Amino acid sequence: MSTDPAATGPRRTDRPLDEAGVVTAVRRAAERGATVRPTGAGGRAPGPLVRTDDVLLDVSALTGVVEIGEDTVRVRAGETVADLCVALAAAGRALATVPDAPRATIGGATGLGMYGGAPAEGSLSGQVRAVRLVDGRGTVRDVTGPDLDAARCGLGALGIATALELRTVPLTRLQVHERAVGIDEVLGEDLLGEHAWTECDIAVSPSAHAGSAVLRWAEPEPEATGPVERAGWGQAVSRLASSWWSSGVGLRSGWPPPQRWAPGTAGPPHEVLPDPQPWDPDLSEWAVPRAALGTVLRELGAAVAARGRELRPVRVRTGRAETGLLHPASGRDTAYLRLRTRGPAEEPVRRLAGAVCEDADGRPCWTTRHAWGPDELAVAYPGWEAFRAVRDRFDPDRRFTDPHLAAVLGR
Ligand SMILES: Cc1cc2nc3c(=O)[nH]c(=O)nc-3n(C[C@H](O)[C@H](O)[C@H](O)COP(=O)(O)OP(=O)(O)OC[C@H]3O[C@@H](n4cnc5c(N)ncnc54)[C@H](O)[C@@H]3O)c2cc1C
Repeated sequence: MSTDPAATGPRRTDRPLDEAGVVTAVRRAAERGATVRPTGAGGRAPGPLVRTDDVLLDVSALTGVVEIGEDTVRVRAGETVADLCVALAAAGRALATVPDAPRATIGGATGLGMYGGAPAEGSLSGQVRAVRLVDGRGTVRDVTGPDLDAARCGLGALGIATALELRTVPLTRLQVHERAVGIDEVLGEDLLGEHAWTECDIAVSPSAHAGSAVLRWAEPEPEATGPVERAGWGQAVSRLASSWWSSGVGLRSGWPPPQRWAPGTAGPPHEVLPDPQPWDPDLSEWAVPRAALGTVLRELGAAVAARGRELRPVRVRTGRAETGLLHPASGRDTAYLRLRTRGPAEEPVRRLAGAVCEDADGRPCWTTRHAWGPDELAVAYPGWEAFRAVRDRFDPDRRFTDPHLAAVLGR
């Protein structure tokens, strides 16, 4: 097997149309001694966890909402986040957490622990109530109870999810706001924790001052009523702001970032909150204990200043402690830091920032490059051994692996 699957691509791609097709694909791979990696929208967002030179199992054809219940939804794993949000909105429901990536599938988004920005809510993985998956021997399992915490952020290492049940909440229209603030104000008054949704873009530099952060927040719109009839994805996000973040223009041409929304903007969560970005291999994401955020930002400032650099924007969102055994927020309220550096020239800054986050008990998010393996996971994740035990039962033959995953999780 090549050590660089990205260079060669999969030997074979299967795209089953239903659960029976998934079972067949896994059993056929087992007969041939092949390994299998599941992917949802991975062809478009090629993270390291979906690269293989063996069999890629593309579940993106397993779409559709099966049933919208009183406070849950049952959905096939290949349904996109965007399509699910629209279907729920039509029924007066919503996901409690709306992440940025509209085209991510529910299987992929929960497979990596995709988070949103609601401080009192968990990630999308935290909303999962049950998973139906095909294990490494081709057996269909309905996963609930303690095993569910392994499957919540399973990295595609436990099986191929074919359907999931997720918690839903009543649909409300959110009104979004933003203003320039000082970092001390954000931290001192816990501005990140007191709204239904918050995010903050911060200029980490030696001269941090009032106006060196942009706080955005959302609250239910006063007197909002009824379900929303027309729903699209991120319609209210200003194009300018979106391209500022994704192109990195803000890195070169100043601060503060342009306004993200027109004044008074309000709408359903999936229209107003997401800020979709193109895949960027230079992006780093760290999950640090919520209580350590102030220290981390100060130390990041000192570290980059010592090298005459700045780091901006650093996007901060927060979320509740997760029960998912390998979720980066497992067991603790968390601040997520998204750090953008640009290319090889800024690789030292990227590594430096990573070291600061790591020193603060940070855990790398699964979407971005990192050098963690089993030794680091064993120290950082109290549920590591429990995850391995579930993996041993669900995939004793290590059908679901590839060189990268083997380096991260070990044999
Ligand atoms: C534009 C964009 C914006 C983003 N914004 C955010 C954000 O705001 N917050 C955030 O947390 N992340 C964000 N991400 C990263 C995001 O979490 C991942 O890209 C997302 O998981 C991709 O979903 P996917 O369907 O492409 O899954 P893939 O990338 O294909 O898979 C993700 C993981 O899940 C596994 N997997 C996929 N399908 C299944 C299945 N059916 N059963 C079992 N395992 C499966 C894969 O093996 C892999 O380990 C963003 C990504 C993009 C491209």
